[in-house]
Amino acid sequence: MKTGFARREFLMAIGAAGAAVSLKGCARAAKPRVVVVGGGFGGASCAKYINRIDPGIDVVVVERNREYVTCPFSNNVIGGLRTLGSLTHGYEGLGARDGITVVIDTATAVDAQARTVSLAGGNRLAYDRLVLSPGIAIRWGALDGYDEAAAEAMPHAWKAGPQTLLLKRQLAAMEDGGTVVIAAPEYPYRCPPAPYERASMVAHYLKTNGKARSKIVILDAKDTIPKQALFEQGWGRFYEGMIEWVPRGQGGTATRVDPATKTVYAEAGEFKADVACIVPPQSAGGIAISAGAADEDGWCPIDPWTLESTLRPGVHVLGDSCIAGAMPKSGFSANSQAKVCAAAIVALLNDSQPPEPVFMNTCYSTIAPDYGISIYGAYRATEHAIVAVLGSVSLSPLDAPDEVRKAEFEYAQGWLASMTGEMFG
Ligand code: FAD
Repeated sequence: MKTGFARREFLMAIGAAGAAVSLKGCARAAKPRVVVVGGGFGGASCAKYINRIDPGIDVVVVERNREYVTCPFSNNVIGGLRTLGSLTHGYEGLGARDGITVVIDTATAVDAQARTVSLAGGNRLAYDRLVLSPGIAIRWGALDGYDEAAAEAMPHAWKAGPQTLLLKRQLAAMEDGGTVVIAAPEYPYRCPPAPYERASMVAHYLKTNGKARSKIVILDAKDTIPKQALFEQGWGRFYEGMIEWVPRGQGGTATRVDPATKTVYAEAGEFKADVACIVPPQSAGGIAISAGAADEDGWCPIDPWTLESTLRPGVHVLGDSCIAGAMPKSGFSANSQAKVCAAAIVALLNDSQPPEPVFMNTCYSTIAPDYGISIYGAYRATEHAIVAVLGSVSLSPLDAPDEVRKAEFEYAQGWLASMTGEMFG
């Protein structure tokens, strides 16, 4: 049903600051409306591109936080190479675009039948298409003993912000000669190389702050790690003797934690930490699960051509929450999926055929200042999955000269600047 509820009135009803005003019962806008839940890598990028491709579509972004802190480069904050402020962005730029409205509120429920999203503030938004890009939820308790209270003693820092600063404070308080334990989970989880970049940045911080006798033990539920030879080469060069990696085959899988004693129990035995950083098991963001878009494993199956949920028609799921086949869960992947999704939604709302998608991802990791490495991949859609384009996946060369590592370190900074410029500028 379409009524004359004009975009200008809708903007006024929402209010510049997203003040809570009732939209209950508000009928579908005259223009088609896309509601996007989540203003992170997937959501903000998708909103921007729908607006760019077809300014005639009303786009409403619902985001629970007034500011977004990027996880990319949050390990650099731990290493002392950046401030958290340099990773923090407001939504003024996104909301100032004609055709995009940003509502600061939490989406609490989706009615896929009625095509509405309910917000914690009491409003309900009608949509023609819904995009969910809510990132990850932590599966509290999936690792025995690791609940929200335990995360205050043993931070995950897997959502950048206060947790990042907590981990940094704990490292600052640790004596030289202390032990840092990092527990890394089995796939799938947000940003596969990030636990190893984190170990590098923790080692850099300790080494450059008079704590070079300290040790970092990575307890891993996997037997191989992304960019393994490159990480090992970098660790050998910069952090000789500081980082010990315990793979699954050597009992590295963490089975329980005790926050009171900062002990991580693994198949290989007990690891008493001075600082423990636990990367816990994860799932799709809560709203994607409550919307009925997730499978029994907690992730969201999608049509690889349109990112539309195979469980909830009219709902598209992007980024970490979706099952994206060969693509890793990364900000770059989420951005790439957002562009494909935006083109598909515009086509579907204009009764035309979504274009054939192409996806891309590059994951940069910092091992030391001026020393970056990366992995690149291009991806395409088959009927059922997103697969890597044959021969496209490539790594930084091993044994590369310092100029190459320095250039990659700089490309990474450029990548973040252009990505966040695109999302929030
Ligand atoms: P997010 O970017 O997390 O956005 C989700 C948004 O949804 C959030 O703003 C959240 O507040 C909001 N939200 C959730 N639920 C609701 C709700 N119910 N209502 C309203 N709003 C809601 N990726 C890279 O590409 N490069 C890197 O170098 C990199 N480094 C990383 C380092 C670390 C330490 C970590 C942990 C991750 C890193 N990543 C990196 C991964 C990257 O952060 C994620 O893959 C990316 O953020 C996923 O985008 P998303 O849109 O799915 O989720």
